[in-house]
Amino acid sequence: MLLDFNQEELTKYVEEFALPKFRGKQIFDALQKGKTLEEISNLPKDVKNKIENDYPKWEIVKLLESKDGTKKMALKFPDGSLVESVLLSYKYGNTVCVSTQVGCRMGCKFCASTLGGLKRNLSAGEILLQVLIFNKLLGGNEKTRKVTNVVLMGSGEPLDNYENVTKFLKLISDKNGLNISERNISLSTCGLCEKIRKLADDNFKVTLTISLHAPNDEIRKKIMPIANAYKIKDILSACDYYFEKTGRRVIFEYALIENVNSSEENIKELGRVLKGRSCLVNFIPLNSVKERNLLGVPRKRAYFLSSLLEKEGVNSTVRRTMGEDIEGACGQLRNKLGGGQ
Ligand code: SAH
Repeated sequence: MLLDFNQEELTKYVEEFALPKFRGKQIFDALQKGKTLEEISNLPKDVKNKIENDYPKWEIVKLLESKDGTKKMALKFPDGSLVESVLLSYKYGNTVCVSTQVGCRMGCKFCASTLGGLKRNLSAGEILLQVLIFNKLLGGNEKTRKVTNVVLMGSGEPLDNYENVTKFLKLISDKNGLNISERNISLSTCGLCEKIRKLADDNFKVTLTISLHAPNDEIRKKIMPIANAYKIKDILSACDYYFEKTGRRVIFEYALIENVNSSEENIKELGRVLKGRSCLVNFIPLNSVKERNLLGVPRKRAYFLSSLLEKEGVNSTVRRTMGEDIEGACGQLRNKLGGGQ
């Protein structure tokens, strides 16, 4: 579909249909504005007919707004696949949280996105579309961009869909497109080591966020099956490699779960593991997912554990939870309707 193309590829496509060059530009502009084919007013019917099969089609099947202003959208593609995306509005700008896969095959015990497994990968254009639609809803276009930041933290494991995700990174940071700098993009991964190194080798400089959630491999294996494939030690060494190549400080995410990973001893051990690294730990009390019988710690406890880690010499913060009432918070996105309505 046409959103998978950069401007050059789109020019070639237009040439194949023997259309004049300016049509390519018009189509590209319409795509970047998040317009549906019907909404394009400057293309004649015969041109529309020619491109109809390749022009992206979608349906917004749900758009919810949380009391904190967070918006959650469910998009449906022609094959029936459904993905959720979230818009978080802060004083300094608007962040879109995109999904990279329909479902997920990582199987983390605390996450709703993995219930039902992986359905399919999203293409680069399908990931981009999530940002373009929110940009349009905010009244922006490719010139007056309203979306300032993007986080690849919706459903799916971005590095399990490497080709499409990196193509998306190129498209969104393209100066002819939304031109969102890699500095303003965060990619979260459960820690696929080879792919972390590849990302650095391929010269991407996004902020890398690692879903760590445990101070040692034993605890990690209890909640994240991927821990059987990669040791924390190997993930840290891949992070070092990423830091050396990109100069970007790595962020570790740590969802605090009652009776699993949130004792003082757990946090002290985490301190010993991460001490001396240029990193930040982002604590978040586990958000509830009704099918999972794991409990988050109270917020007060999270602040206490965060200060404990600081005493151990590791920078940390407690993440604000947004959009929980519409099931738009971390780990609550799904590929089915039903959440938060
Ligand atoms: N697969 C990637 C991208 C998902 S990002 C990854 O694992 O990083 C979503 C973030 O929310 C991840 O850090 C994930 O571990 C975290 N998360 C998942 N379920 C959660 C929950 N119930 N409460 C809080 N955070 C959760």
